[in-house]
Amino acid sequence: MTPFDGNPIAPEIAAFLAQSHRLLIDGQWVEGSGSHVTSDPATGLPLATFAIGGAAEVDAAVKAARRAFEGPWGRLTAAERTRLLFRVAELLDQRAALFTELDIVDNGMPRFISELTVANCVEMTDYYAGAVMRIEGTTTPPPRHLAALGEALTYTLREPVGVGGMIIPWNSPLAMAILKLAPALAAGCTLVVKPSEETPLTALALGQVLLDAGLPPGVVNVVNGFGADAGAAIAAHPGIDKVAFTGSTATGRRIVEAALGNLKKVSLELGGKSPVVVMPDADLAEAIPGVAMATYFLQGQNCMAGTRIFAHAAIHDQLVEGLKAFSEAMVLGHGLNPATQQGPLISATQLARVKSHIESALAEGATLVTGGQSPDRPGHFLQPTIFTDTRPNMRIQREEIFGPVMAIERFETDDLDAIATRANDSIYGLSGSVWTRDLSTAHRLVRRIHSGHVSINCHGAVGTNIPFGGTRQSGWGREFGREGLDAWLETKAVTAKL
Ligand code: ADP
Repeated sequence: MTPFDGNPIAPEIAAFLAQSHRLLIDGQWVEGSGSHVTSDPATGLPLATFAIGGAAEVDAAVKAARRAFEGPWGRLTAAERTRLLFRVAELLDQRAALFTELDIVDNGMPRFISELTVANCVEMTDYYAGAVMRIEGTTTPPPRHLAALGEALTYTLREPVGVGGMIIPWNSPLAMAILKLAPALAAGCTLVVKPSEETPLTALALGQVLLDAGLPPGVVNVVNGFGADAGAAIAAHPGIDKVAFTGSTATGRRIVEAALGNLKKVSLELGGKSPVVVMPDADLAEAIPGVAMATYFLQGQNCMAGTRIFAHAAIHDQLVEGLKAFSEAMVLGHGLNPATQQGPLISATQLARVKSHIESALAEGATLVTGGQSPDRPGHFLQPTIFTDTRPNMRIQREEIFGPVMAIERFETDDLDAIATRANDSIYGLSGSVWTRDLSTAHRLVRRIHSGHVSINCHGAVGTNIPFGGTRQSGWGREFGREGLDAWLETKAVTAKL
């Protein structure tokens, strides 16, 4: 096996990979308490060696973040913060090729997704840079007892939450970092960021961008490390005012428990099991590729993945046939190759986890239509996989899979309440989609689905200014847009007797 499957890699990216990757604390690249080697998930070959930290490094980072918050960062005007964030967006854009290829080799995602991600990250940073000057409080009538005594004034100030901790997953490393970091910095917070131990590279390149943009030391600290060490230390640290987490529901629960010590604010973006409802009048030419990619985007390692497909009996067979053809035509390969449509899963462990779902679906009597196997090549690949004849109590219908596996259930009814009852039969509520040509059916069904985000005739169509987050066990709070900024602000009410 040749590195990167023989795909060329730009010299500056090769140089970045070969560099010694340290921790960013207080504006300096420093050694950690150990080191870890990542591998290219498409080849299994070693990729980069990077320093890792634990409780001591997190503590140093929190102290640096606090100093920056109380010091130079806290003293910047809104206009100065705006300019710095626009500069960050500009540098991200200038280094787009580096970020694109680092996420590909670290995570395995195909090039077209990585390019889209970097462009979205630039847009999101621009959006929040522009939002800094729009952080505004309100004036309200003073309380009755003060007003009775003479003139009085009450108003509110919007202030940063303080020092934030961010625990980032591996499924879209740059995007997951930026969507937390940009609003937090816009709000005026300082940060300790822990990327996933599987995919640390873009966070390190981002650390350099932040230094080059001129952010004062300590505003953003990047501490690589394992979840049980660095991650747990962030969740529990008494000097952190808010922790923002994206990852599995099981880990989210642990973070909530660890955060109890100082009752830090917690935002959680967790798992999903999003329903995709295909009605009899759906435009199948649109629905077939749309439903396929609802499941296969990011190899299915996507919290919004539409893995429960509900297909009306009138179109079920035609839909399945179309999805099978689409799945079998998908080009698997290294993400650096522009022809690749689906890359590998992140690790051997993840591949084994997904395969155990496939085995349990077979054992429980679901019908395998296509896929289910790993192609004969190195890397953690899995063929796009489709099951039909799935039933509500099967594991494949209940648990998040995080792999390119879809479960299709046939339904006969036209009753929207009955359809929604099936769609809502999940502990999760993150995303979902409805496919129909009938506007009334679409909007009536959307109102019945319990989820933070529902798309019509598309899936997972989230964006910079669209609030995103889950109901039920999919999480707490919203990210993106205005609500994403509000999540990093506190309101201070001021009352003055004049
Ligand atoms: P996965 O199991 O698929 O890797 P996780 O939700 O466990 O997903 O990982 C998401 C992020 O959470 C990673 O950065 C990981 O290091 C971190 N993490 C894992 N366990 C903990 C923990 N106990 N406390 C804090 N962070 C954790």
